[in-house]
Amino acid sequence: MELKKRALKVVESLLEDSVAEDFLVDCAKFITRANYRDAVEERSIAKMCGYPICPNKLGKMPTQQYKICTKTNRVYDMTERKCFCSNFCYKASKEFEPSKH
Ligand SMILES: [Zn+2]
Repeated sequence: MELKKRALKVVESLLEDSVAEDFLVDCAKFITRANYRDAVEERSIAKMCGYPICPNKLGKMPTQQYKICTKTNRVYDMTERKCFCSNFCYKASKEFEPSKH
C-alpha cells in the first residue's frame, strides 16, 4: 500500500471509541506528527478525548482560547489543551506524538 494511503487508514482507525495502547504504539510507526494531530483534532470534534486510548468523552470545553496564569503571568494557548479531557491526557498525548514530521 502506498505510504500516504496507509497513513490515512491509520488515522481513521485512531478515531475509534477506544484504541488499544499496543495498537497506538504500532500506529506511530506509520504516521507523521501532522497525521497524529489530525486524529486528535478529529476526535475532539467528535467530542471524544483526543488521546486515542482514552475512552472519555469531552465535557464542557473552555471557551476562551488563551488562559493567563496568574502566578507566572504567562499566556497559555488553550487550543490544543481543549482537545483533551484532562491534563493527564494532554501530557500523555504530547509525549506520545510521533517524532516524524
Ligand atoms: Zn482523556
